[in-house]
Amino acid sequence: MEGMEVTTIRCGQCGTLKGETNHWIVAVIHPDYEGILFQPLECIATPRNPELIYKGLCGQGCSQKELQQWLDDLKRCFTTQGNEAA
Ligand SMILES: [Zn+2]
Repeated sequence: MEGMEVTTIRCGQCGTLKGETNHWIVAVIHPDYEGILFQPLECIATPRNPELIYKGLCGQGCSQKELQQWLDDLKRCFTTQGNEAA
């Protein structure tokens, strides 16, 4: 039987494959805006916006890692902009 869409979701942090009962979280990132959004996988609007980056995360632990990485990037951004070496 064809027509059944099988989407394989892998955690963007640890690479775990999504099972059926896990409560997954998706990090939604817009490349042109400053910010990151975390939503339950079930609440992600479909069809997905092609301008956004969706990153599946297997749970709270990996979501926190994702946020931490994003904050680290933000810190770099502050450092670059605020460093006026006068
Ligand atoms: Zn994970």
